[in-house]
Amino acid sequence: MFRSLALAGLVAACAGLSPSETSVRTVDEDGDGRADRFELVTNGMVERSTRAPAPGTDPERTLVLAIDGIPYDVFAHEQAEGRFAAFFPASRMLAPFPSLTDVSFTALLRTLPSMAYEDKYYDRAAGEVKGGLSERVGGDYRSLAPFHEVFDWEQPVTWGGFVYLAPSRVAEAELLRVVEIIRESEDPELVLYLGSTDGLGHEDGREALRVHLRRIDHLLTRLLAEGVGGRRVVLLSDHGMSDEETRRFDLESALERGGYRLADRLDSPADVVVPAYGLIGSIQVYTACGEEEGVARAIVAQEGADFAVWLADDEVKAVDRRGAADPLDRSPQLYPELRRRVAEGLRYPTPHPANVIVDLEPEWHYGLRLFEAFVSMAGTHGSARYEQSVGFVASNVDQTPPWMDVAEVYPYLALEREPAPVARFVPACAAG
Ligand SMILES: [Zn+2]
Repeated sequence: MFRSLALAGLVAACAGLSPSETSVRTVDEDGDGRADRFELVTNGMVERSTRAPAPGTDPERTLVLAIDGIPYDVFAHEQAEGRFAAFFPASRMLAPFPSLTDVSFTALLRTLPSMAYEDKYYDRAAGEVKGGLSERVGGDYRSLAPFHEVFDWEQPVTWGGFVYLAPSRVAEAELLRVVEIIRESEDPELVLYLGSTDGLGHEDGREALRVHLRRIDHLLTRLLAEGVGGRRVVLLSDHGMSDEETRRFDLESALERGGYRLADRLDSPADVVVPAYGLIGSIQVYTACGEEEGVARAIVAQEGADFAVWLADDEVKAVDRRGAADPLDRSPQLYPELRRRVAEGLRYPTPHPANVIVDLEPEWHYGLRLFEAFVSMAGTHGSARYEQSVGFVASNVDQTPPWMDVAEVYPYLALEREPAPVARFVPACAAG
């Protein structure tokens, strides 16, 4: 109690000073690449000095800050330039395939699976596409994607619609709110989510993410110097983000040429349902049972498709545009852990699994046509490629390994919460 009162007084005192008079110094005493001490310096005088927890210890308080869609390479570049000095050098966090928010946070936070891969899916039993914008704005997204329940705060759903209109302003407002919560909360465990960086990366690209990361670093370092630095702090992202403009994949033409059609429900073997949502680098496809290969071949014949995968009697099958004998035999630098991630991705234990997943070439996307109207795409994620799949994890207590699979991150967060039981995959189409 005393500590927080003293802190509040200090923060108030600083608020009256111009930023140029108060600065933060980070000191790495033992040369391990992580700051051990933070000094709040006003007019050349150290006002306050805060010690970081000793490496490998288990501090009583924890802060997890999840930042959507920050590629490892972007974060690592900022760290190499001296930012995020409070953290050990970041790990590469390999997202699942498809490299999408819901799939990745489900694995990162070990929650019950989301209803689908994004917030929209096809319910075979009901013969209906469900989820999407209305449920998202209506506040039902927690049942669509239970990982949201782990966050102590995330932006109100009503902000969501503005992310693509003014991503940078939404990202700033979100960050300021998060800083306020970190300052005010007495909670020993805080899990906070900066979700608008995903829209920022899609629309304004990596440079915008860099600028925003600098804002985060600036505010976070200040908080650490004000006394927050004594707790465990873990930063992480859920996937990467490509760094080039993308255009819309012509799924309609591809299906038509193969004798299929895009439909709202599966009434005949020619019907194909795609619950398009965000503008992303993969397509989750629901076909009539037995049509998987036909649909996969039709789609990969179209410019912009990379490969398509499905399960036949629980065995992974794949075709690609070039007709390779083994389409999953790819450079691990470009497609890390491809075979394993595809096998796991096809068995993602959502209650509503797609039965064909298409990976697009890097300069292509697919998604909700509505979004195309006001978004020019500077980058995307969702595919199996490195730049779209590799996020980051950085801790101020643990030097995490250079590469981490998404499933290995949870113990480093040191949350009190018990992970959800591992869900069992039930295929969309019964074998035989
Ligand atoms: Zn995301």
